[in-house]
Amino acid sequence: KTKGPAAHVALLATPGMGHLIPLAELAKRLAARHGATATLFTFASTASPTQRAFLASLPPAVDARALPPVDLSDLPPGTPNEALMSEECARSVPALAAALAELRGRAAAPLVAFVTDLFGVDAFVAARAAGVGRRWLFFPGSLHALTLFLHLPELAASIPGEFRDLDEPLRLPGCVPIPGPDVISPLQDRLSPAYGQMVRLAGLFLDADAILVNSFEAVEPEVAMVLQQPKLGRPSVHPIGPLILPADSGAGDTAPRAACLEWLDRQPAKSVIFVSFGSGGALPAEQMRELALGLELSGQRFLWVVRSPSDEGSLSGNYYDAESKKDPFPYLPEGFVERTRSVGLVVPSWAPQTEVLAHGSTGGFLTHCGWNSTLESLVHGVPMVAWPLYAEQRLNAVMLAQGVGAAVRLPEAKDKEAIAAAVREVMVGEGKGAAVWAKVAELRKAAAEGIRGGGAATTALDKMVENWAGEK
Ligand code: UDP
Repeated sequence: KTKGPAAHVALLATPGMGHLIPLAELAKRLAARHGATATLFTFASTASPTQRAFLASLPPAVDARALPPVDLSDLPPGTPNEALMSEECARSVPALAAALAELRGRAAAPLVAFVTDLFGVDAFVAARAAGVGRRWLFFPGSLHALTLFLHLPELAASIPGEFRDLDEPLRLPGCVPIPGPDVISPLQDRLSPAYGQMVRLAGLFLDADAILVNSFEAVEPEVAMVLQQPKLGRPSVHPIGPLILPADSGAGDTAPRAACLEWLDRQPAKSVIFVSFGSGGALPAEQMRELALGLELSGQRFLWVVRSPSDEGSLSGNYYDAESKKDPFPYLPEGFVERTRSVGLVVPSWAPQTEVLAHGSTGGFLTHCGWNSTLESLVHGVPMVAWPLYAEQRLNAVMLAQGVGAAVRLPEAKDKEAIAAAVREVMVGEGKGAAVWAKVAELRKAAAEGIRGGGAATTALDKMVENWAGEK
């Protein structure tokens, strides 16, 4: 732990709970372990009830501050999230630079570092302008995804067509081969504004002094070795994960315990599959029906966080606010809730996910493979059924199912029989299920070892903050 005057760290989280939660966790860790105080900046668009409740639950050492709103009304309707986030960031640079300069001017706790996630890298110029000594990229995804980004400028130049049309899987150093259709979704259409934004952002990664990655060696060992070798012209890479929201950090002891946890209390050990698609995921209407019928057919107990299908059929319709757009219940098959009343619980919009995964009654997780969800599942030793939707989720599914073997991936045709079969594999241990259980138990141990004092993740972060206090 550091001694001397307390250091101050500024962090910027771009929209999406998958960015906000782990960056806040990093801020909390810097405070608890290294005596730092932190300002966690968010955009004005990060303001849904779920997000506000989360920000309000942060400890006093982490000051959450919203940047002033910027005008985005000139962007065409249907602008992809990736482009929206980086535009909002670019336009927030002046306000952020002013705020950072003000923090720099405070004598008590010098501002020693600026940290942002992958959609916030435009803000490095603000940190540079304010004279902040360290600019760190916090990469909230896997080392596989990071590798793809680091190679993106050269891939974009050398691959003539679309990734999805590649005859051969993409082979990147240390990575599981990635079939073309599983390359991240914003790169699947060269004409989309998201594509250009991603290539541009990947270039800005090189503006960071260091890249902190929310992953750990045991889950992707070969690529961890490759990226930890220093490479000229690329920032050093430091796996500091898994950083996840602890299961006991809800809204505090005074808040009533969520009803779904009370329900879990009444179920047998490891008997329930938790079904959730992250903060943004929404299924097309007919897939939602198949999922309901598949769960019913599996004969397993389930806890399902359900959202209404988004109007345009977009898979990420709730990304910005993490709320269901409409009452989702009318979209469920007729009689489903009544028929499954004794074995299943359906909750709209949001559940306290880490508490659910930590609960003894939870035995499996049907997940969209968002990286935070993946880490939370591994930390709590819960085997997964992979149903990736968008962003880098298909890539994560490849890595989890074909790579390390911590998940059973659903086939492309997700009919109720396939869903029921995969759920049974993971819950009952049929097929690949038993091997997945063993691997997940191993990863759970490795994750816990890494984040305790002296563990690999803790040591990596300790090294980053050596000598930072007392600096100007
Ligand atoms: N989450 C939650 N309750 C929900 C849905 C999501 O607590 O009902 C949390 C989840 O635990 C994770 C984050 O929101 O920490 C989602 O991040 P992830 O990377 O898995 O997916 P994304 O939302 O970015 O698609």
